[in-house]
Amino acid sequence: MNALTLPTIGTIAQRTIVKGNFTMTVRIAAELMRQHDVNSLLIEDGVQRFIFSIDELLEFLHQGGSANSLLREAPVHLIACIEEGSKVNHALELLEHTGQRYLGVINHAADLVGLISRHDILHSIDPAALMERRVVGDIFARKMPVMFTADWILEDVMHHLRKWDDSIVVVDAGRAIGLITPQHVFDVMMQEQSAQHPLAHYMVSPVITTPINFTLQQAMEQMHEHLLNQAIVVDQQQRVVGLVSQSEMIGYAYGSWINIMQSQAAELHALIASLQQKASGLELLTLKDDLTGLGNRRQFHQQMVAEIDRMRRYHAKPFSLVMFDVDHFKKVNDHHGHLVGDTALRRMGAELNGFTRATDTACRWGGEEFAVLLSSTSLEAAAIFATRFKTLIQNLEFPNGLKITVSAGVGEYVLGESENLFFERVDQALYRAKDKGRNCVELDERQ
Ligand code: GH3
Ligand code: MG
Ligand code: MG
Repeated sequence: MNALTLPTIGTIAQRTIVKGNFTMTVRIAAELMRQHDVNSLLIEDGVQRFIFSIDELLEFLHQGGSANSLLREAPVHLIACIEEGSKVNHALELLEHTGQRYLGVINHAADLVGLISRHDILHSIDPAALMERRVVGDIFARKMPVMFTADWILEDVMHHLRKWDDSIVVVDAGRAIGLITPQHVFDVMMQEQSAQHPLAHYMVSPVITTPINFTLQQAMEQMHEHLLNQAIVVDQQQRVVGLVSQSEMIGYAYGSWINIMQSQAAELHALIASLQQKASGLELLTLKDDLTGLGNRRQFHQQMVAEIDRMRRYHAKPFSLVMFDVDHFKKVNDHHGHLVGDTALRRMGAELNGFTRATDTACRWGGEEFAVLLSSTSLEAAAIFATRFKTLIQNLEFPNGLKITVSAGVGEYVLGESENLFFERVDQALYRAKDKGRNCVELDERQ
C-alpha cells in the first residue's frame, strides 16, 4: 500500500493565475474571471499581492458599489504566501492565522506559481475526493496478472487458479485478448471435459480492461458494474501493465486518509503536551498566595503529600504541622479597617517566612490562618517552634501601634493516617488553644 503522507501545497494548488490591476474597473475584473473561468484575480503591487474574488465582488455590489468603480476602491485582500513544498496542514494553519480564504503559492525563488484556498486543501484530504482525483496509474504497478498466450494448454497452467479471485490473462503481443478464471477449471472438472485444449478454447473474450488513466472512482464503478474483483490495467496501447484489486483501491484512498489523520494526531498530541505544559506553568503560579507571597492551600497539600511520601518510601523522620490562627482578628478589621488588617497579615507572612527553615513550608491556609509543615521535626521540636513564633508575634508592634497575638495547634504525623485526619487532629489542638484563652500553643493529645 502506498504510504501517502500529507500532500504538499504544490501538488494541489490552482495553477491558473489571472492577473488584474488596481486601475481596472470591477466590471472588467468580473469579465476577466468569467473569460478564464476562475473565481479570483491576483493583483500585484510591488512586492505585495492582493486578491479580488467573486465573493468580494458580490459583497461589493450588494453594498451598493458600482461596477464602474476601480478595483482600487473595491475590497481587495492582501494575501500571505506559502512555499509550494509546504504541507497542507501548514497552509491550514496559515489560513487560520490570517483569517483569509486564499494563500499565494510561491516557488523557492519566491515567484508566485499558484493560489490555494481552504476548499482546495480540504478537498485534497477527503477520501471521496481522492477517489475522484487519483488515477489507477498512481497505484497499480505493484502486481502483474498471470499471463499466457492462447496456445498454452489449460492443464499445464491451471495450477495458477487456486482461489476464486485468481485469473489468467490470455495475451497476444502484450494485449489482453481473453480471460481464464477458476470457474472454467471448475466447469471442466465437473463436466469431466478435457483440459488438454489450448487456452483459446476456454477463454472468455473480450476482456474488460481498465485504462491506466481511469480515476479510482471510475475503476470502482467499472468493477462494480461487471462484478470484477480485480482490474486489469492497460496502457494507451492496450498492453497489460498491472493488476489492481478493489480492496487496494479503497485501501489506497482511505489509507492515505488514515495517514493524514495519524500525522494530524501526532500534531494534536504535541499541541496537547504543550498546553499541558502551559497549564502546569499556570498551576505553579497559583501555588502562591497573593497577599502574603507564602504558599497557598494547594501548595500546602502538595507538600503534605510529598512529606508523607518521604516517610513512607525513605523512612524519613516524622514531620509536624503547626496551625496558627490570629486571635480576634475580626476586631482588628472592625477597629482599624480591612487595609490595616491586610497589612498585618502581610507582615505576619513575612515574619513567618523569615522564621522557618528552608526545609519547612509556610502557607497561608486561608483568612488569618497559617499552616507550617516542619520536615523531619518531632512534636516537641515543633511545639518549641510554635511557642517561639507565638512569642515573636506577641512582642511585635504592627503598624498603627497594633498588637496581635496568635494561637497555635501542633501535631506530629503518624504513618498511615490520612491527610485529613492528621489535619483534623491539629485543628482540634488549635480549638483547645482558643478555648484556653488564646495566645497559647496546644499539642495534639494523641501522642
Ligand atoms: P478567633 O480568635 O476566634 O480566631 O477570632 P477571629 O476574629 O480571628 O476569628 P474569625 O474566624 O471569627 O474571624 C476571622 C476574621 O479574619 C474574619 C475576617 O474579617 C478576617 N479576615 C480573613 N481573611 C482576611 C483578609 O484577607 N484580610 C483581612 N483584612 N481580614 C481577613
Ligand atoms: Mg480563623
Ligand atoms: Mg482568628
